[in-house]
Amino acid sequence: MKFILIFIALTYPLSGFADTADISVTKRSADAYILTPAYSTNIGVFNTAKGVVLIDPMPGENQLEALSALVKSIFGKQVTYILNTHDHSDHSGGNAYFIAAGSEFIQSAAAFADFDTVTVKSHTANDTIFVHKPSNTLFVGDIYTTNWHPTFYAGGVAGFVAAVDAILNLGDENSLIVPGHGEPSDKQQLKLFRQNTLQWVAQVKVLREQGLTVSEIKDNAEIQHILRTFNPEHKTDFIPQPAVERFIERTLTVIKKGV
Ligand SMILES: [Zn+2]
Repeated sequence: MKFILIFIALTYPLSGFADTADISVTKRSADAYILTPAYSTNIGVFNTAKGVVLIDPMPGENQLEALSALVKSIFGKQVTYILNTHDHSDHSGGNAYFIAAGSEFIQSAAAFADFDTVTVKSHTANDTIFVHKPSNTLFVGDIYTTNWHPTFYAGGVAGFVAAVDAILNLGDENSLIVPGHGEPSDKQQLKLFRQNTLQWVAQVKVLREQGLTVSEIKDNAEIQHILRTFNPEHKTDFIPQPAVERFIERTLTVIKKGV
């Protein structure tokens, strides 16, 4: 009996998540909303003269219908255009659903007076930053996250710094910076993220030069301290240990490449 009760307690929230619409809505302006599913990818939805634009439509496979209904309830219209900050499935996985429903996928928002589009190489070889000018909102994809460690694997340190500089050169001091995952942020926080990321790379390099293994690097006090700076939301179950080791390994690969 005890076992059964534990089993129910563990599985009920999971099955509840799969079946229920659970997308939080943040209104930035009358024409700009940020939708955040429990799945955590930040989704942008904007009303423009050319129709409704949806950025990174991936709330989780089971929530695409709920996302579509939610957009319709906000603007009273279907999605006209889809944009992606990059092509990873946790951002682009809902494209096919919306294309099948009549939306059009576009690479850039250059044809829209409301948007600026900037392309950089950091998280992937083709990261796109979208600026919605009327609401001063920057959608920056996984160049920046506020609930995970940095992932600068395509561009290395130089690509990461160039990408952050590109973001800092857009908008103004009041710009809302919407990361790929985690709470929306601002330029002050992004500058700290850049600083902490550079410290992370420097510390991994120093410890490797001292001959430490990946596991020993993981347990280093300074490394643990820097890691905590990537958790501004103070999540108790932040990054699992194996993922920290993978992050160190990938950082070492970037250091080896010397970029
Ligand atoms: Zn992502």
